[in-house]
Amino acid sequence: MKKSYIMTPGPVPISNEVLIEHGRPLMHHRSPEFSKIFAEVTDKLKKFMQTTNDVFILTSSGTGAMEAAVTNTFSKGDKVLVVNAGNFGERFKKISTTFGLNVISLDYEWGQSAIPSDIKKALDENPDIKGVMIQQSETSTGILNNIESVGKIVKNYPAILIVDAISGIGASEIKVDEWGLDIVCGGSQKAISAPTGIAFISVSRKAWEMIEKSDIPKFYFSLNAAKKYADKNPPQTPWTPGISIIVAMNKALDMFFEEGREKVYERHRVNALAVQKACEKLCLEMLVSDTASRGVSVTSIKVPEGIDGKLLTKTMRIKYGVTVAGGQGKLQGLIFRIGHLGYVGIFDVLVAIAALEFALKEQGWKFELGTGTTEVQKIFFENNYMSE
Ligand SMILES: *Cc1c(COP(=O)(O)O)cnc(C)c1O
Repeated sequence: MKKSYIMTPGPVPISNEVLIEHGRPLMHHRSPEFSKIFAEVTDKLKKFMQTTNDVFILTSSGTGAMEAAVTNTFSKGDKVLVVNAGNFGERFKKISTTFGLNVISLDYEWGQSAIPSDIKKALDENPDIKGVMIQQSETSTGILNNIESVGKIVKNYPAILIVDAISGIGASEIKVDEWGLDIVCGGSQKAISAPTGIAFISVSRKAWEMIEKSDIPKFYFSLNAAKKYADKNPPQTPWTPGISIIVAMNKALDMFFEEGREKVYERHRVNALAVQKACEKLCLEMLVSDTASRGVSVTSIKVPEGIDGKLLTKTMRIKYGVTVAGGQGKLQGLIFRIGHLGYVGIFDVLVAIAALEFALKEQGWKFELGTGTTEVQKIFFENNYMSE
């Protein structure tokens, strides 16, 4: 017998409560029954994102929202600044060049977070920049960018700020309105802990002004079409949405608010700390050396010399049922990543570290079994994890 544990930075584990909702008999997307749920989910997403901006639900993975952000706001040849600190920064670059934008890439070493004053400098040197794109949490490395500071900078320029918060939102704080974020993208399969296949996107007034002038072709991801249908009474989507996923998200969002925003963030903070401290006890090195730059959604761990990284994650998955992620892009084979966002509790973290210990031991890594798991228990105990 082997149980399965998914400890990746998306998709993430899903609660039974959410799975039951996902399995409800299908409703028609123009029925009053679904319209009610659709309106509720939209309202809950606004609360989740802490915004009064328009929020649209798109049926696609998170990348669809990133594409929608680019194709709806810009015009061909527009100059944009893309903060590139990993694989998802690269993705914003690829989307931008695909649609004919003039990309200035602000590159960082993979494992480092962006320096907000670099963005200010680039905006001062290029007053014709129309948009800035950045990840909140760069999932390929595990860093967290300081979106609050970036928001305060970009607000003073004509450029709009587009934030890919797909793996960050719901795990770390992001205040769309207070921080002045024009477009923010999220996905159902990350911290919300619903099935894969729904993206969501918030749009500010400043972004709408650019949307009106945008000349890049779009059809399925047209935000004007989304708005036209969202403004109907009751609100709808232009095309058939992922109905069951939206129904599941309704429950998942309820669970977020029931647990409470601050408690959810604290749970993520302690999960991340436990993983990092346990790995350090096992003499493994973190990719993100600067602790202040580390996010709480995923931890990237360097594959040490003498260990076969591919075999390590394969052993964890095949033999022990624990799926973790490898490295992406140029970090392939050099790191592995343990996801600890969404519906992840202390015993999930304990299982992941126990499986990691077994897989390391099988390759001859020298340590006492239980070194990592003991540290996990210690961190949880010290942080009064189960106080309520
Ligand atoms: C998961 C993720 C995405 C979107 O990936 P999809 O596979 O399209 O859902 C984009 N950006 C970041 C930072 C992510 O973590």
